Amino acid sequence: MKIKVVESVMKANDAVAAANRQRLEAAGLLAVNILSAPGSGKTTLLEKVILRLSPKLRSAVLVGDLQTTRDADRLGHLGIQVVQINTGAGCHLTATQVAQGLECLDLAGVDVLFIENVGNMVCPAAVDLGEHVRVAMLSLPEGDDKVAKYPTLFQPADIILLNKIDLAEVLDFDPARVRQDLARINTRAPLLEVSTRTGQGLEAFCQWVSERRASVTNG
Ligand code: MG
Ligand code: ZN
Repeated sequence: MKIKVVESVMKANDAVAAANRQRLEAAGLLAVNILSAPGSGKTTLLEKVILRLSPKLRSAVLVGDLQTTRDADRLGHLGIQVVQINTGAGCHLTATQVAQGLECLDLAGVDVLFIENVGNMVCPAAVDLGEHVRVAMLSLPEGDDKVAKYPTLFQPADIILLNKIDLAEVLDFDPARVRQDLARINTRAPLLEVSTRTGQGLEAFCQWVSERRASVTNG
């Protein structure tokens, strides 16, 4: 019985996710779902990347957090549309929350919708929001064993960002270990070493976003 309940919840979510995807495509948007642990740098990444993409690509953000509008306040300074979704006790965003967030946005004039998921390396990966691409980010302070420990996050990712790469020497982090673990679970997604502090790798990530956006809008 319990399994049936869980299945029907997931099916209901997937139906809403499919509707979200259709709606976003009709509006000519690329939707990017960003998943990582708390504190790995999702909001800072968005602050830097959205500025670099502008004015060629115009962004909007749905940002999920249990409480506060702190991240929406930070991103709002960029002069873009931002909707903060407070999940209360919820540890991931759902397709329904994204649908509600979309109601608050004027999609005309937006090229890329970034969805900053709740910081969590486990369950957000199991929930389709209607995104076109998934970004999984690992930051160096988390340790070079995390790809092996959290394969469900990294396996379905379309690109993997290794953030805070400027700390590699201080933290004794071995990027080769991450590459070895990825080779076992995801050979499709590129791995980019980035630093939101120094700007390393951000241009390459922006290039990737631009290419993916072009592929969505060209059918
Ligand atoms: Mg954040
Ligand atoms: Zn969750």
